[in-house]
Amino acid sequence: MSFPSSVDVAIIGAGAAGLGAAHALQGTALSVIVLEARNRLGGRAWTVQASPDVTFDVGCGWLHSADKNSFVPIARALDFELNKDLPPWRERAYGNAFPQSERDDFMRAMDAFYQRLWQAAQKGKDEPASLSLEPGNRWNPMIDAISTYINGCELEDMSTLDWDAYEDSELNWRVRRGYGALIAAYGAPCPVALNCHVTLIDHSAKRVRIETSQGTQTADKVIVTVPTNLIADEAIRFSPPLPRKVDAAAGLPLGVDDKVTLALSDAEAFPSEGNLRGATMRTEMGTYHIRPFGQPCIEGFFGGSFARQLEAAGDGTIAAHSIDEIAGLLGNDIRLKLKPLYESRWGHDPFARGSYSHALPGHAGDRAVLAERVEERLFFAGEATSPNFFTTAHGARDSGERAAKEVLAAIGER
Ligand SMILES: Cc1cc2nc3c(=O)[nH]c(=O)nc-3n(C[C@H](O)[C@H](O)[C@H](O)COP(=O)(O)OP(=O)(O)OC[C@H]3O[C@@H](n4cnc5c(N)ncnc54)[C@H](O)[C@@H]3O)c2cc1C
Repeated sequence: MSFPSSVDVAIIGAGAAGLGAAHALQGTALSVIVLEARNRLGGRAWTVQASPDVTFDVGCGWLHSADKNSFVPIARALDFELNKDLPPWRERAYGNAFPQSERDDFMRAMDAFYQRLWQAAQKGKDEPASLSLEPGNRWNPMIDAISTYINGCELEDMSTLDWDAYEDSELNWRVRRGYGALIAAYGAPCPVALNCHVTLIDHSAKRVRIETSQGTQTADKVIVTVPTNLIADEAIRFSPPLPRKVDAAAGLPLGVDDKVTLALSDAEAFPSEGNLRGATMRTEMGTYHIRPFGQPCIEGFFGGSFARQLEAAGDGTIAAHSIDEIAGLLGNDIRLKLKPLYESRWGHDPFARGSYSHALPGHAGDRAVLAERVEERLFFAGEATSPNFFTTAHGARDSGERAAKEVLAAIGER
């Protein structure tokens, strides 16, 4: 799409949130454009063909809370096959790395931790989630590892009230062709200017002036959907400044989670949809999904400080570490069967600077502040603004739709 110098509504970011907003404005009389810094749609939703037989979601993969997930009807409408196989992370384990009796003990410790965390939340104190760990429990480091996968951070950086606000129906589905591919297909009809990096949103005059790498544009209304770390770091600036937004974004940083896929030869010898995790008693550990969709690969997942460390060690480190860890669990012979295909580096991604948002202790209220509109002209969406489905792609999409409805209400359009 060419770059218009003036529009009614400019949407910054073509991730799930921006595309949700653009869809909600379709069919109105308004001129709309989505300004996207990358050369593709989807943002943190991104499917790649890692090899001829391996489709890999570099970002989101699971349609969490599938019974309430607005991408489920979209997948059906766009003819994307839904996969309802159970996720491997809770029930299944492969090999002897984590014997069943130990696993049961770990699950009991984790459920008891969640119960204490829930009780702490009922008292309304927005304290670090780590305070709900039982002192001295031998499973604490691994409970913390689970937090790094779910929240992108260790429990000491996680707000208890934010944890409690998250809604999860525990129904997790996937799309065979990839969640990222689904979101890109959803966005295909939207008017998007790619390679359009927004640097400044000047709301000092009657019309908002947007400075971008493709020139200047004016708009009546602007919907901002960029990840919180970019607002907090002022990588995208507002004039006059919006310190309340910058503070709220800083209270909701993106933690880091990274994924890797390794080609697996002799794949038929391994279970489809298997789970592999060792009783390592460390927080610095990966968790592995053997043969997702039956594909000849193993996917690894890393979170929190450990993911940051692996990223900092340079390209290829996540794959190399995964092969070492899997060999430690299944024996050295497997090294010959594994080959790195693709790994993410979300912490180093200039237009994400992390993976998904978590509220720091004391900052659970910041999501509502970030979502507030400013002067009926600047509107805010993105996963971090969702009251209950934050961190997720469907929460992001729904937030975009909410912001678009606010725009229509401000204009007085239906
Ligand atoms: C490893 C990983 C695993 C995940 N797993 C899941 C999962 O299983 N299920 C799930 O639901 N969610 C998952 N998520 C989270 C999910 O991907 C995100 O919550 C969701 O995609 C965020 O959408 P968004 O529109 O809020 O933000 P984004 O997708 O980040 O979109 C924002 C857009 O703004 C653009 N942008 C940034 N700065 C500028 C600028 N200055 N100018 C113009 N454009 C700009 C970006 O390029 C981006 O396209 C995962 C994320 C990661 C990283």
